[in-house]
Amino acid sequence: MSLAASLAARRRVRVTALAIIASVLATGCGGRSELTHHRLYAMGTWVSVSVHAPTPATDAAIAQVETLLRQFEIDYHAWADGELARVNEALAAGRAVEVSPPLAALLKQAQQLGERSGGRFDAGLGTLVELWGFDGPPAEHAEPPPEAAIATALAAAGMRHVHVDGRRVAAGSTGVKIDLGGIAKGEAVDRIIDTLRQHGIHDALVDAGGDVRVIGARGDRPWRVGIRHPRERGVLGVIELEDGEAAFTSGDYERHYDIGGIRMHHIIDPRTGHPAPETLAVTVVMRSGVEADAAATALFVAGDDWRETAAALGASAVLRVAADRRVETTAAMRPALREPEGADGHNER
Ligand code: AMP
Ligand code: MG
Repeated sequence: MSLAASLAARRRVRVTALAIIASVLATGCGGRSELTHHRLYAMGTWVSVSVHAPTPATDAAIAQVETLLRQFEIDYHAWADGELARVNEALAAGRAVEVSPPLAALLKQAQQLGERSGGRFDAGLGTLVELWGFDGPPAEHAEPPPEAAIATALAAAGMRHVHVDGRRVAAGSTGVKIDLGGIAKGEAVDRIIDTLRQHGIHDALVDAGGDVRVIGARGDRPWRVGIRHPRERGVLGVIELEDGEAAFTSGDYERHYDIGGIRMHHIIDPRTGHPAPETLAVTVVMRSGVEADAAATALFVAGDDWRETAAALGASAVLRVAADRRVETTAAMRPALREPEGADGHNER
């Protein structure tokens, strides 16, 4: 069957053992080292960095990546014990708080992307995420949260209540909890890519649990990423990525539980306070991990009207699987799509 015819935190309070568990050297013709894979567990997922033709600086780069990820999973996770948790404590107590420059910049960006998405991406839904039980590993629930509790949480939630002024963060509601879960992996992947480039690495692929960004190529061919089918084993297709491109996926299969045969998952529609019902998975290719991450979440929420939100966010390359399993792709996505076969990265989880 052709591709067109067949066409996808946990609560890690503190991760102490972030380890590079594998560094495999693939050997090409004549014994020359061509590809190394470094795998680290961070932010509740496996993060792998594949470097083509590694230089002596690669080990130093990987060590820096490890440090960066360890800091990220503590400071940018709402339910860890780091900077974002302290910000949320202050906001809940009605206090303004001064944050570090990188967190201030990320909060500002989250707010701007949220506005451009028409509020579909909203980094201020932490209380709703808690109510539905997705602040930690999803546990079975007998019933959904009471509607009254959802309505109360929703009225007080959202980045519309948050003011970011330079490094000062304040909120007009004590019921808003900032959750960067829809964007933090994008920021982490972007910072990893920057780190690799600073170490003179020209050809690499970073795969954070299926969310991928690349530099250069894999030798004489582009890096390839398999897109997981949201309901079946195997992949929908393979995307070829050019230098600097990121492919991010939001799917209802990542964190979920069922109530009465209906899937409850971790992506909340800020208009209703419920898991967004019209989408199984959305993959977006953009030249920034943060923007692709936010766009994938926003388009997932947008549902059948996703094209309008995609245009507002500048997301031209999109592959979407609707609730009825229909696969939709934009014209800009199609040239990069290949039949399912050998991929370097993949969004299996
Ligand atoms: P992603 O997998 O990138 O789509 O991010 C999903 C995560 O972002 C969830 O686990 C929540 O922590 C958070 N989240 C849920 N709904 C939204 C939303 N509408 N906008 C922004 N972040 C959200
Ligand atoms: Mg996202």
